[in-house]
Amino acid sequence: MKRSLDTICIHGGWKPAKGEPQQLPVYQSTTFKYETSEQMARLFDLEDSGYFYTRLANPTNDAVAKKIAALEGGVGAVLTSSGQAANFYAIFNICEAGDHFITSNTIYGGTFNLFGVTLKKLGIECTFIDPDWDDERIEAAFRPNTKCVFGETISNPGAKVFDIERFAEIAHRHGVPLIVDNTFATPINCRPFEWGCDIVTHSTTKYMDGHATQVGGAVVDSGNFNWEAHGEKFHGLTTPDESYHGLTYTESFGKMAYITKLVTQLMRDLGSIPAPQNSFLLNIGLETLHLRMRQHCSNAQKVAEWLERNEKVAWVNYCGLPSDKYYALGQKYLPDGSCGVIAFGLKGSREDAIRFMDRLDFISIVTHVADARTCVLHPASHTHRQLTDEQLRDAGVAPDLIRLSVGIENVDDIIADIEQALK
Ligand SMILES: *Cc1c(COP(=O)(O)O)cnc(C)c1O
Repeated sequence: MKRSLDTICIHGGWKPAKGEPQQLPVYQSTTFKYETSEQMARLFDLEDSGYFYTRLANPTNDAVAKKIAALEGGVGAVLTSSGQAANFYAIFNICEAGDHFITSNTIYGGTFNLFGVTLKKLGIECTFIDPDWDDERIEAAFRPNTKCVFGETISNPGAKVFDIERFAEIAHRHGVPLIVDNTFATPINCRPFEWGCDIVTHSTTKYMDGHATQVGGAVVDSGNFNWEAHGEKFHGLTTPDESYHGLTYTESFGKMAYITKLVTQLMRDLGSIPAPQNSFLLNIGLETLHLRMRQHCSNAQKVAEWLERNEKVAWVNYCGLPSDKYYALGQKYLPDGSCGVIAFGLKGSREDAIRFMDRLDFISIVTHVADARTCVLHPASHTHRQLTDEQLRDAGVAPDLIRLSVGIENVDDIIADIEQALK
């Protein structure tokens, strides 16, 4: 039976049988027992499915991954120990030394470094493009060894909306998948697979957890990309894997090829699994994701409108404002609301921005974003301080940009705190 997202938030992934716990249990065990040596051998050959070691699979982690896959409308998902690990695995599962990919330049600072610096050391190159360029200029970035295109539904910290359908079409014209980091929108407000995206990633650390209790990530596969049609590009999926006795992922697992390879190769060899306890906490967060997202969006809309009217504010980026550059894209992809994150700048100097932040009361200065508590950050002094001014501008981060993550407190209290700090 088809269920609404609200119901999946509560019931997805875990269906207790008679006498089993109503709440998802924490399977705090590294290993799982079998009766015969033969049973265990079949698991190692991927001929049978079952749990044997938590680095590869754990029932608590799996239940939460299934819930996230159901929310996104994908065929499968894997949880990782962080959002960084999720984005690394999503790319590394189809790129190797000598390969290239294309990414939006308006992405999270950590991802910017991972792609531009660390992957480069592994021999994987990327080209940063401005998503506002015309098709011709973007298509000029493709090379014969280009393996995927990457963007964020709503960029962190610039709050820009990514034109998913357009980028899916461009990627598919070149025979490669589109990967979208859907952290800020969450599947409650946008499901990128419905717009042609092939792989979704998440930092579950943010809204999905929602309470700043655990760092985690997820990779979700739509199952829609036809790897075999472009087999020469994706030989890791379409030719025999020597580390599994010559098994070929697309032949053996069909629509589950990408996600199965990610677990059986990358998780096996690199680790980065979440602790089952963390997945349990994430699951409690997911149970209220639909309720919290509505409150984040309604609060942020009111705060953005208030900021826009305030004479001390120079500019506001929030796609729910009709004046916003991304309003039309927001209405298309995020008709029920985007998220709680607003980017704005104050009239005055960089120091004025810092003074404003220091005078806030319950609104806290933290690196974190997108959870129940309203918080602020000055990317140029904090998350993005390793970028040069030019890279900052390229990443769409103005030096005066303040990232305000509107929480789910009473909106009048949030506005009152901002107002007294501005005064
Ligand atoms: C925070 C964040 C990440 C990195 O996630 P961690 O869980 O901190 O490793 C990746 N993408 C986006 C959009 C983020 O906001």
